[in-house]
Amino acid sequence: DYVLYQNRIIPKNELHIDMDDRGYNFGDGIYEVVRVYNGIPFAMDEHLDRLQHSASELDMTVPYSMETIEKLVYDLIQKNEINSGMIYFQLTRGIQPRNHLYSRDIEPVLSGFSKPLETNVEWQQNGLDTWMTKDIRWLRCDIKTINLLGNIMAKREASDNNCHEALQHREGLVTEGSSSNLFIVKDDVIYTHPSTNLILNGITRRITIRLAYQIEATIKEKPFTLEELKQADEVFITSTTMEVTPVRSIKGDLTASYSIGPWTRKLQHAFTDYRKKQQ
Ligand code: PLP
Repeated sequence: DYVLYQNRIIPKNELHIDMDDRGYNFGDGIYEVVRVYNGIPFAMDEHLDRLQHSASELDMTVPYSMETIEKLVYDLIQKNEINSGMIYFQLTRGIQPRNHLYSRDIEPVLSGFSKPLETNVEWQQNGLDTWMTKDIRWLRCDIKTINLLGNIMAKREASDNNCHEALQHREGLVTEGSSSNLFIVKDDVIYTHPSTNLILNGITRRITIRLAYQIEATIKEKPFTLEELKQADEVFITSTTMEVTPVRSIKGDLTASYSIGPWTRKLQHAFTDYRKKQQ
């Protein structure tokens, strides 16, 4: 089992993580999760763009070129012989004796791993049970930081209520899932929260929006309320690992159930076609 550390691929048992790494002490870092289909990273350019966005918003610099990171990701895939899977990589601000005040003179730490993964066919077919809860996160959800306390608390709450994913709302306005973006369909119009500071602009979200235009759906990036979600004809989520997955029920701050509709199915097919064409 190999891992990525700085600009090298090394055996996992040779990895040394410093206790003074700011990622460890403060969650001071950013990350990406990239899907691998047939040994090839999917939508790599978009993930690298988003990494740059996260870095610049946090006053961090990415110490390697995008080409170098892409090559390292390919090397990791090959070393670990990943055919269908995912790559996680993170960049922390660097190593420094614990101090809230970060230094601008420390070297960021890049690390990552790979994991085999298959799309969950059962969820794709029959949909997920979800849990609606309050969005307690900070106001920079557009940054893909490794600081995920709000998200992980919501996910645990969902699981404790026998749900697969948590959905979140801020005072009645629906934002996104704990690790996914949320879409609804009402009267043949598709809605999703606009890419503001209140959500992470998912790569799968962006691709889904583009595909919706291509199949001539009407799509609006507009926030919707809990009540509008309740009245929706179709609900689905998107993410790197879950692609386009239907939602069949919601419990918690909202109770609703849905049948899986034609727009969800069309976008699932469009997504599969698109990612096959990328190879
Ligand atoms: N929103 C949040 C909060 C996430 O953590 C994620 C992914 O983990 C997403 C949305 C979906 O983003 P992507 O499609 O890039 O995986």
